Amino acid sequence: MTALLIRDLHAWYEKSHILQGVDVEVQKGKTVAILGRNGAGKTTTLRSIMGLVRTQGTITFDGRSVVGVPTHEIAGRGLALVPENRAIFSTLDVRENLSIARRKGSPWTPDAAAELFPVLRKRWKSAAGRLSGGEQQMLAIARALMTNPKLLLLDEPTEGLAPVIVDQLVELMLNLKARGLTILLVEQSIQVCSAVADVHAILDEGRVVWTGSTASLSSSADILAKHLTLE
Ligand code: ATP
Repeated sequence: MTALLIRDLHAWYEKSHILQGVDVEVQKGKTVAILGRNGAGKTTTLRSIMGLVRTQGTITFDGRSVVGVPTHEIAGRGLALVPENRAIFSTLDVRENLSIARRKGSPWTPDAAAELFPVLRKRWKSAAGRLSGGEQQMLAIARALMTNPKLLLLDEPTEGLAPVIVDQLVELMLNLKARGLTILLVEQSIQVCSAVADVHAILDEGRVVWTGSTASLSSSADILAKHLTLE
């Protein structure tokens, strides 16, 4: 079943026409990765889904359009974005960051999150601003879970992190997936995408130029060379 359907999506910042017909489909319980160079429009796609950018085209979640719907209502329907800047409250401690984000009735409590994020449990009383980059990323994801999302939008969660932390994040994403969460992941690392996602979409200059499985991605060196900056 389709969770998120994006068809012919266009988006603008002022007069700049950034997305020029993006098509992405995410099936329930699956993970889709959006790959692309800097400036390809990956972040803009996630922000468009959350109603943060002026758009035209189709975006439906659970069969209902979210275009023109206020961001808080979109969040209320079960979408949560973990932005690139992580959006945590740096002066609050870890537990406070979690409890403040919790939506009433959510099965996710700070303690339940700590089970999944042992790293955070160790830093429970630390101000979030004092955490390492990897810990902050974990906290940002844990915060998003507090709202009990059906679809998690992750914007470059592994960017700038050490390989050992990247491995932990991959484990975490696989764990969330195993719990049935649907994930739309923006990533520059082909390794991370291949480890986590079922379907990959390559974005270039505001359009999806290629979509395929992990197996077809790994055998498409020409596509990768053409549309991505190789690592
Ligand atoms: P990155 O990895 O650099 O974040 P991206 O694929 O996520 O790349 P976007 O952030 O979606 O790319 O940016 C797409 C284009 O939109 C870029 O040309 C960028 O300069 C432009 N852009 C992004 N945010 C704004 C803004 N607030 N106002 C004007 N232009 C913007």
